[in-house]
Amino acid sequence: MMNYPLTLAQILEHAHRIHGDKQVTTLLPDGTFHRYNYTALYERVQRLANAITQLGIHCGDRVATYASNTYQHLELYYAIPCIGAVLHPLNVRLSPVQLAQIIREAEDKLIFVDNAFAEQFKTFESKVECDQVINFDPMFADTRTLYEQLIAEATPEYAWDIRDENWAMGLCYTSGTQGEPRGVLYTHRSMFLHTLAANQTDVFGVTEADVVLPIVPMFHAMAWGLPYASMFAGADIVLPGIKPPCIAKLIAETGVTVAAGVPTIWAEAYPELRKRRTDIRRLRRLIVGGEAMPLSLIEAYEKELGVEICHAWGMTEMSPTGTFSKLRGVHRSLSDAEKWKIKAKQGRPIPGVELRLAAETSNGFTELPWDGETIGELQVRSPWTANSYYKAEPSAEHFTTDKWLRTGDMATIDADGYMQIVDRAKALIRSGGESISSVALETALLKHPDVREAVVVGIPDEKWGERPLAVVVLTPIGAVSNRTDADIADILKQQLTSEFPKFWIPDKFVFVDEIPKTSVGKSDKRAILQMFAPTVRR
Ligand code: ADP
Repeated sequence: MMNYPLTLAQILEHAHRIHGDKQVTTLLPDGTFHRYNYTALYERVQRLANAITQLGIHCGDRVATYASNTYQHLELYYAIPCIGAVLHPLNVRLSPVQLAQIIREAEDKLIFVDNAFAEQFKTFESKVECDQVINFDPMFADTRTLYEQLIAEATPEYAWDIRDENWAMGLCYTSGTQGEPRGVLYTHRSMFLHTLAANQTDVFGVTEADVVLPIVPMFHAMAWGLPYASMFAGADIVLPGIKPPCIAKLIAETGVTVAAGVPTIWAEAYPELRKRRTDIRRLRRLIVGGEAMPLSLIEAYEKELGVEICHAWGMTEMSPTGTFSKLRGVHRSLSDAEKWKIKAKQGRPIPGVELRLAAETSNGFTELPWDGETIGELQVRSPWTANSYYKAEPSAEHFTTDKWLRTGDMATIDADGYMQIVDRAKALIRSGGESISSVALETALLKHPDVREAVVVGIPDEKWGERPLAVVVLTPIGAVSNRTDADIADILKQQLTSEFPKFWIPDKFVFVDEIPKTSVGKSDKRAILQMFAPTVRR
């Protein structure tokens, strides 16, 4: 058989040659649309590839993007990896301290900054040593920005030459449990294979006739691979910019058929989508992941709007797709309620992904049965799963000796292979589909001289999935002891603000005399949750 490297250049070439007339539509900040087709995108990607090379970027160099979902970001998604450099999308929601740390570790040589984030970028620009910064503005596809000037002045053709499919193509950071960022380096091979697997009919199932809207940001786990899967399939793409003011309007105006985002987005968009039910008739499927999709929301979309909900589970470490919840043929005869119950599970492994449930023993792990009841640590492996973190040796905390990834999720798997997450062993809170490290917040709170103990737990929240709650024991004679609880909470929030993003800051602080402990003297987070979860209101 022919044996040549599997690379993203093949996806780009296929999209251009076979689907050149397909559209990429970007919602601009002024509410109008920028539209062009794959051929126009292809020509710009070639020029961009030459321009980036001219700037001195070599094979293996990291090039960051600090941008929302726009056509320029899509161009960078191809141009950077296709010259052999490494695309590093930065999460715009992280704090300046976290971003500076990530950029330093990644040693990014060049950063492309969306003008919408130019001010935000200035807050950490001086803290990073990056050779060059290039601004672009989604509003202008003429030569009014340096980005456009570069494209205009660059040579038009580029001969892709990725010689080894194991060359790195992308770098995404995920939040470590201690709050430290962890890089995951994807290769051309892993992303190519992920693209093929993730777009099977029983997985994303995107076809040439689809119009795909990735609401999931392009800085979050490679937008779940949709920029590659959609273009390989030849679908039209709609890019929503930062956050569309009205998702329902965007879907109606652009005829979106498949959209992807976290449950919080779909909970928020539901009332408006319901109002415009007739205008969004073409919408056939939502791909939902990042956190659990509540059963009530699945029911609302499927029953009231006739939109199929596909609940997915994955991790940045897995490129990111791991499981996908679709019904089997034998489920056809079930009642709707029974079907929704199955769909609320995180789903079955996509082809190429292996799952196992494990329990830790004194000499390693034993495998647990797939009976839908036994809870175990979820472990995975696949050709698109990381075998170590960037610049780190694989540690026993994350990887087993037989080279499976320990996900930190606790789950059951039933006899049909449907996996359901029941708990999280890792100290991460999931809010709006993003991770918040409880350990990092606790450590930061303890820096205040009047805080004796601090525990942060994730309280169930209707809108965000979970929100952090801080439970604090103050020293009895501290400087703040004569203040009201509200004042002390404000002081502590202030302290956290300099270090962490806004969405990490606990909405609520509770001051107690004592924190419940487990038999081994650790903070008993389960007991704390039981004490506060039902009563706490924001
Ligand atoms: P992503 O948000 O793209 O899935 P992250 O790396 O940010 O990737 O987070 C991965 C973690 O998110 C998982 O280990 C799991 O705890 C949680 N998660 C992802 N999808 C789901 C889901 N469908 N249901 C419950 N938790 C999920």
